[in-house]
Amino acid sequence: MKPFSTRGSTPPPGFDCTPDQWSDPSWQMRNRIRTVDDLARFVTPTDDEVRAVGALAERFRFVITPYYASLMDADDPSCPMRRQVVPRMAELDDPAGLADPLSEVEHSPVKNVVRVYPDRIAFCVNNECALYCRYCLRKRMVGEPEWAMKKRELGVALEWIRATPEIRDVLLTGGDPLVYGDDRLDWLLGELRSIPHVDIIRLGTRLPVTLPFRVTEALCAMLERHHPIWVNTHFNHPAELTEAAAAACDRLTRAGIPVGNQSVLLRGINDDVTTMKALCEGLVRMRVRPYYCYQAQMLEGTAHFRVPVERGLEIMRALRGRTSGFAIPLYVLDTPYGKVPLGPDGLRQRDGDDVVVEAWDGRLWREPNPVDDGPEGT
Ligand SMILES: *Cc1c(COP(=O)(O)O)cnc(C)c1O
Ligand code: SF4
Repeated sequence: MKPFSTRGSTPPPGFDCTPDQWSDPSWQMRNRIRTVDDLARFVTPTDDEVRAVGALAERFRFVITPYYASLMDADDPSCPMRRQVVPRMAELDDPAGLADPLSEVEHSPVKNVVRVYPDRIAFCVNNECALYCRYCLRKRMVGEPEWAMKKRELGVALEWIRATPEIRDVLLTGGDPLVYGDDRLDWLLGELRSIPHVDIIRLGTRLPVTLPFRVTEALCAMLERHHPIWVNTHFNHPAELTEAAAAACDRLTRAGIPVGNQSVLLRGINDDVTTMKALCEGLVRMRVRPYYCYQAQMLEGTAHFRVPVERGLEIMRALRGRTSGFAIPLYVLDTPYGKVPLGPDGLRQRDGDDVVVEAWDGRLWREPNPVDDGPEGT
């Protein structure tokens, strides 16, 4: 098997900290990049990046973990990691972008609970992340103090879940729930577990990608006590699949937690077949199942990231038949009504009593369509 890159496992050459500090998640959080000077320790910032850090300071937080910054290419501003997290002036040029394209605020019965489906909710327990992705769907709230959840507000949301028996699946998201300390998360999971109608709890977290050292043995042992727990993480590019990230995912899966991945299709980052195939195949080497690939939303400041749906369909089509079936995510568009799968649909036509389907290599297959003649045995 191809080994994962050791990049980011230890401090970059010449960086002033010990290996123990580097792999300490609290050290990483305290020493995050917040200014152009901090950034200049890792890359040579371009004029556009320098101007954008200033121009966007009030609009959308700029924070990067040293770990993630060490994956960036120092000299190439088109580096896929760098483009995900370093501001660009293009963010100010997006007349069509919306603050809340999924109308999440309208779907909120209580603060930070988003209910689009009858049986499951996204519960934005935290407004903080380890770093801020420039295309974040929840830009309007992440890093904004008014969306923080005080313990009393978490209590109100928990009461709402307790009083709503249809809810069987609670997705803790944010922000990032793993930015919480273990004790607070343990308390929250215990509260959810005391609600009889909650079957599964999922964590949506980008920390395996942006701060893998946060996924400690102690965290995993705590999560394991609250099973069934599922985790969805968010890798977008194969260069993010480092040895440190693989070790974090391994700790989660060894604790019995199924780990899935949701990526966003981003222009110039992963919108080509070679990159997407390498991402998906690398994920399954880490025992992480590609779950969703999102069409980028009409979200403010992200015009430079959006890709036409046709390109997404082409990529998905090129993967089918050319890699393991479970390495292929479902390409979806998230809408205010929920997630909608975007083909490709193999069903070509109905022809009399037959259906005609198109295989991955373009060949057509004709299959008799079973007749629905009532319940079995009648
Ligand atoms: C994505 C999402 C879910 C979970 O959807 P699945 O398709 O079950 O993964 C639930 N609620 C909201 C609001 C979501 O956006
Ligand atoms: S980690 Fe997730 S929630 Fe946080 S900024 Fe990135 S996309 Fe948004």
